[in-house]
Amino acid sequence: MRIVDCHVHMKSKVSDVSDILRAMDKNGVARMLVISKRERKSLEETRKNLQQTKSLCDQAPDRLTGLAWLEPTIHGMKELAREALCNMGFAGIKIIPDHWYVHEDRLEPWWELMNELEARILFHTGILYAFEDGSRFCHPVYLEKLLHYPKILFAMAHISWPWCEECLAVMGRMRAAKNPQWQSYIDVTPGTPPHIRKQALFNALDFCGPDRLMFGTDLCIPGCLSTKKQIDTDLAIFDEFGLNEAQKGRIFSGTADELFPSTK
Ligand SMILES: [Zn+2]
Repeated sequence: MRIVDCHVHMKSKVSDVSDILRAMDKNGVARMLVISKRERKSLEETRKNLQQTKSLCDQAPDRLTGLAWLEPTIHGMKELAREALCNMGFAGIKIIPDHWYVHEDRLEPWWELMNELEARILFHTGILYAFEDGSRFCHPVYLEKLLHYPKILFAMAHISWPWCEECLAVMGRMRAAKNPQWQSYIDVTPGTPPHIRKQALFNALDFCGPDRLMFGTDLCIPGCLSTKKQIDTDLAIFDEFGLNEAQKGRIFSGTADELFPSTK
């Protein structure tokens, strides 16, 4: 089965792509979406981070695709976003609302640009083990604002744990809007602790169907990738649910390939 990991963080420069590709082969991973390093304040640092990720992905464009981690409140970020999506080959954008709410008026020009660019965005949703006391800004319900920007497609990472039901409610809201496309997806990357993971996946499947779910790990490069462990864990759960090959294939690669296609 083809595996695409939709959620891998680039922590620092990777000089040789072959180590990464070897680790992917060992884990049976066909393709990874690589999120550029986070930067909360500086436009120039953000640009450097994007270059770093671009350089890596350019070495293996069929297997590595970049997601640009952008902080919309940094001055000049709109131009860089356009550059990332239109000229640098990034398939989408990663955003953590960093002490701002998605629905704030001051963000409206940003969402207008995202809409114009038909951006695909991976949002951190759920509890945040970083950014000081930033979790409260990451409730999935704030993404309802994106109903006003119907060309934006977005995924909610970590099934928004502990707000998994709120995540599903947003999925239902976006589906019901018929806007005309259903704008939202769920990235099932861990975060959900073992005591709730099976139930969270079951509920998400039951409410949204496999077409809206995508597999990811939240692992980091450079580093030793343990993707196989997460594949096996999730696969065992999906087998227990009785999903067929097509449904599993959709979750493990189809959704990510559709939402974040390789732009090369
Ligand atoms: Zn992450």
